Parts: sequence; structure tokens; C-alpha cells
Amino acid sequence: MCRHVAWLGAPRTLAGLLLDPGHGLLHQSWEPRRQAHGTVNADGWGVGWYSPARPEPARWRSSRPMWAEASLTSVAPHVASGCVLAAVRDATVGMPGDESACAPFARGRHLLSHNGVVDRSVLPAEAWPRAESVCDSAVLAAHLLDEPAALGERVAAVGAADPRARLNVLLADGERLLATAWGDTLSVLQAPDGVAVASEPWDDDPAWSDVPDRTLVTVTPDGVDLTPLEIP
Ligand code: GLN
Repeated sequence: MCRHVAWLGAPRTLAGLLLDPGHGLLHQSWEPRRQAHGTVNADGWGVGWYSPARPEPARWRSSRPMWAEASLTSVAPHVASGCVLAAVRDATVGMPGDESACAPFARGRHLLSHNGVVDRSVLPAEAWPRAESVCDSAVLAAHLLDEPAALGERVAAVGAADPRARLNVLLADGERLLATAWGDTLSVLQAPDGVAVASEPWDDDPAWSDVPDRTLVTVTPDGVDLTPLEIP
């Protein structure tokens, strides 16, 4: 299982979101607190963020461990955004190790990250040509990005086709976040200046709340909505 995090709200810097919190994504890359599958997330990392410059997000991915990305600590305090999605990777056995297999995956104005594992044979063949990598998460992303508004339905259908799949997915479009809890931990922080959705809390603030398994989380500027996901 990898770890991921997204922010929607007033602009915060990448440093403030990812590097500075005591148990933020950088710390989770070597010492996650709630990771049930795998121990370290050293197989790459990635971040995408939105700016007024254009609708499509900027994206920076790397196959290095996040802690070994020498320029990140220099750049991250200078980049601020109101919508950010980032991930650190613990590669599933047999999956490729290059940066194209690292989340976030992107299409148009969408960014997508997947924590978990899925049997690629249950995913439609039409998704493969649009996948950024043969990694299971990339093929899943290609399938889910074919219909971003139906994230919950598509995740539940994939979960029905592969009962062993773990399908925690995080999706951003610059104006809202969608997330699924399906087989792994997920938490939400409603802060005064925005909302964070993360595999695990980045600190011990009691405002973090745990999302029940098999739930779709929708975050808009108007608030947070939780919807149960049912196997179709
Ligand atoms: N299966 C995905 C990969 O290989 C995600 C792995 C994970 O969540 N640890 O990258």
C-alpha cells in the first residue's frame, strides 16, 4: 500500500502540506503509522497541483524515495496551491519501477492516485492504450479517468469483479476531490481554511476523522459528503 494525500482550500505550500507536518507524506515515506500492507514507501513519489495559469495541473514524479529527492525541500516552500494531490509508492511485486508507474496519474484536468492492488485482468481492455504504465494502478487510473464523475460506481464494480482488490483512490480536478475507502485506511481533516483527505493523519489534531470502509468521499468548497459504496 502506498500513502496519498490531497488538499482543497486556501492555497498552502507543498512544504506545508507534505514536508512540515510531523507525520506528513514525507515522514510516511519511511514510517507510516497506519499502513497495513508494506512497511516503507521508497519506490517513488509524485505530486500534482493546480494554478491559475491553465486548467491542467502541474505534475512532478520521481522513482526515487521522497526523502532522497534532493531539490524538493528547496522548491516545496515556493509552490502554493489550493488543490494538491500527492503520493508515495511501495511498489506491488511484479510492477514496473520507473516514474511512469508513480501516482498521480493524469488526464486533462484530472489527477488520480491509487493505494492498493487490483487484478489487471478484470479491467476493460479499452483502458490499456490510455494507461501511462502497465502498473495495475495506472491501468486502473486509465479506466477510472474514462468517467471521473462515476468514480464510486466504477470502484465498486471493480471491487465486485476482484474481491481481493484494495481500491483506495484519490481524484482531483482543481475544484473538488473524490476519494474512496475500499480496503485501506482513509482520514479527513476539516480545517478552517480547507479540507485534507489522506491515507492517514499527518498529525495528531483531533479534528481528523476516520472514513468507514467502502465509502465515497466528495469534497467541494461547500463541504464534505460521505456516501456508502455498495457492491453492485
Ligand atoms: N499496486 C500499486 C503499485 O504497484 C500501488 C501499490 C501500493 O498501494 N502500495 O504501485
